[in-house]
Amino acid sequence: ALAGQITHADIDKLAAAHFPPCMRSLHMALRRDAHLKHFGRMQYGLFLKGIGLSLEEALVFWRQAFRSKTDEEFQKSYAYNIRHNYGREGKRTDYTPYSCSKIITTNRPSTGDHHGCPFRDFAPDNLRALLSTFGVPEQGLPQVLQLAKEGHPEVACTRVFEITRGLGGEGGAQGRNMHGTTGLVETVGHPNQFFEMSYELAVS
Ligand code: SF4
Repeated sequence: ALAGQITHADIDKLAAAHFPPCMRSLHMALRRDAHLKHFGRMQYGLFLKGIGLSLEEALVFWRQAFRSKTDEEFQKSYAYNIRHNYGREGKRTDYTPYSCSKIITTNRPSTGDHHGCPFRDFAPDNLRALLSTFGVPEQGLPQVLQLAKEGHPEVACTRVFEITRGLGGEGGAQGRNMHGTTGLVETVGHPNQFFEMSYELAVS
């Protein structure tokens, strides 16, 4: 919906306001380390493409983000993959952003990786700390952590969406459906869906 309107300079602001926890976590790691490993670049890069970042803007974004690399290193090791994600190299497939189920079931992260789904892949203490950073209040944490522990990452993510946007954020179980959410928003099944729901709520 925002195709062509988003520039590299908008990403920090959009990440804080509208990105789902998985992408916000990748964005934080990228800003901290000035680097992301391959699957992190894939997961995050395709998401950014999905929100409407053009190839030209993506090349600027990643070039600036990998600030410790020389231009030559960047061109040689990274620019090809970015163009590839946009279907401008190799088989010229126009790759689509990953859904939650793809993120949750494939390319499991190991040490030093930042891709994956925090509700599936983070240890409870790290998940708690991450969610606090993202503005989930103390009283909302037990329910979200429980949903994650029970193996319902997308429901946990939906609750975080609701809580951080003032939708049924009391933390109690009353008024919820069988999934533990209020039913006010669609259950999150795709990171780009999370983004669009958030964006639309903000402009409506
Ligand atoms: Fe990202 Fe989906 Fe996990 Fe939410 S449930 S953090 S959108 S992968």
